[in-house]
Amino acid sequence: MKCSKCGSDAVLFQDYSGMHLCESHFTADFEGRAKKAIRKYRWISQGDRIAVAMSGGKDSSALLHFLAKTFGERRDITIFAISIDEGICGYRDMKPVEKIAERYGVSFHSVSFKDAYGFTLDEIVAKQGDRISCSRCGVLRRHLLNKTARELGATKIALGFNLDDEAQSVLMNALRGDAETLVRRQVPREGFIPRIRPFIHLPEREVALYALLNVEGFIEAGCPYSKKALRADVREILNIYNYRHPAAKYALVNLGEGLKGNEGDNKTEPSICPECGEPVFGECQACRIVMEMKR
Ligand code: SF4
Repeated sequence: MKCSKCGSDAVLFQDYSGMHLCESHFTADFEGRAKKAIRKYRWISQGDRIAVAMSGGKDSSALLHFLAKTFGERRDITIFAISIDEGICGYRDMKPVEKIAERYGVSFHSVSFKDAYGFTLDEIVAKQGDRISCSRCGVLRRHLLNKTARELGATKIALGFNLDDEAQSVLMNALRGDAETLVRRQVPREGFIPRIRPFIHLPEREVALYALLNVEGFIEAGCPYSKKALRADVREILNIYNYRHPAAKYALVNLGEGLKGNEGDNKTEPSICPECGEPVFGECQACRIVMEMKR
């Protein structure tokens, strides 16, 4: 197929726009939409120290490439990488991640569940079963990422979340009946490093293509626990539905954005966990997991 804009060979067909795009028009379209999201949410400003949460997979590697290309020359903006080693045997490997960070000339910081909490994710699974792997992993990762980013002086944490991830999150929160998360708006709060998601409006397959075209050596293997997660079911349902209704994921993300801030009188404010000193909403889930593992 040929590019709808210039007639060169196309690398992508966008079902939602009806356009075929060649590599250079795809790149311009992709980067333009990521920049538009950054402008819309005022995600990056002068003096920012951006910690890119790097797993070394396609999303975070593509994000580091995009941020380094867009802001790497800016003297007033610092970019660095943080990797969390959950301790998943045969899957998590820090070496390729460090290499990618090195290639972009950004400093690399690696922290592990084992050092921070005294146990690995594999040990949690051995004790509690693999059905809870992603929920425990998500809590501990967010906790450790926020703490590490703050200690390193980050003003923003950049996540490689794409349109599919965002749409899945909205649907998952709806299926769990978690209205509180759906309506809670991210506002500056003491101790929480604001999170930015420049790929929020870009489909997963386009992020994957951007990574393939631009990043050498990103990790392609998936986490062995991912198949057990609620997210895997939601992804499958959503992909089937989206095949017939290509705007469905955008609709879900728009719905999620529209709901944010409608907390009414139920607004909850964070407090500081007396055990770990991190800001929390309600009970500290990370400390609860640590207690469970000690029992
Ligand atoms: Fe953690 Fe689940 Fe992601 Fe694996 S798939 S890294 S267990 S959140």
